[in-house]
Amino acid sequence: MGRKVALVTGGSRGIGAAIARRLAADGFDVAITYAAEAGRAAAVAAEAEALGRRALAVRARAEDAGEVVAAVERTVATLGRLDVVVGNAGIAPYGPLEDVTLEEVDRVLAVHARASFVLAQAAARHLPEGGRIIMIGSSLAERVPYPDWTLYAMSKSALVGLTKGLARDLGSRGITANLVHPGSTDTEMNPADGPGADEERSYTALGRYCSPEDIAATVAHLAGEGGRNITGAAIPVDAGVST
Ligand code: NDP
Repeated sequence: MGRKVALVTGGSRGIGAAIARRLAADGFDVAITYAAEAGRAAAVAAEAEALGRRALAVRARAEDAGEVVAAVERTVATLGRLDVVVGNAGIAPYGPLEDVTLEEVDRVLAVHARASFVLAQAAARHLPEGGRIIMIGSSLAERVPYPDWTLYAMSKSALVGLTKGLARDLGSRGITANLVHPGSTDTEMNPADGPGADEERSYTALGRYCSPEDIAATVAHLAGEGGRNITGAAIPVDAGVST
């Protein structure tokens, strides 16, 4: 392929880092964002450079719309174009319904819903024909098999409407928009040997966690030529938790 550029938010570790590594291996130059872990973001960018790609790490806190837009603009200014944008940055607060504060509601909606909208809107100004928008949702957007996750589930289900709307807004320009819903995935957010892991495994058909690379493989498919006619879709990669 000609030179193409992907921007992955939250690419310093976990699922986002796996996506950035995979897209770099597939030939993309990559920009990644982070909130706090500058050193780890730089290390992921260096891995991409070791593969012969150009790479960039930018701080962009999802709560700050200006930083999110600036990350898009800096990607285009530095790497020359933008072909694929992956909205992955996220947090996983949970707890009893009665303990959730209004501040927490605003923060979680800002990080998952508002920042994803801002990211897509800013990216849409630059994406060419064949461009891809890929959001990372959660199996909890569609099915909530246990208590204490209402706010998180609400914030992730907003991405369903976002990606369907984007698919319609941008379809005439040949740009696709899709959502990937990970199930329990082995990262620092949700370690496969954590205290609730066995219970989470018990909700899956396959009886196991996903790896970050499992999620990255589906993102890579959507980003590649095989994804050209997939749009407005929500794809579970969840070991069967949604069955
Ligand atoms: P991790 O906690 O391992 O990594 C989170 C990433 O997001 C890091 O790069 C982090 O940056 C970044 N980030 C965190 N908070 C912010 C913020 N406020 N603004 C900008 N960036 C931020 O999480 P995962 O890799 O597990 O999760 C990635 C995505 O997948 C999230 O959207 C999550 O909701 C979703 N998901 C995860 C599941 C799982 O079981 N792991 C299941 C379903 C969905 P930094 O390193 O700088 O802190």
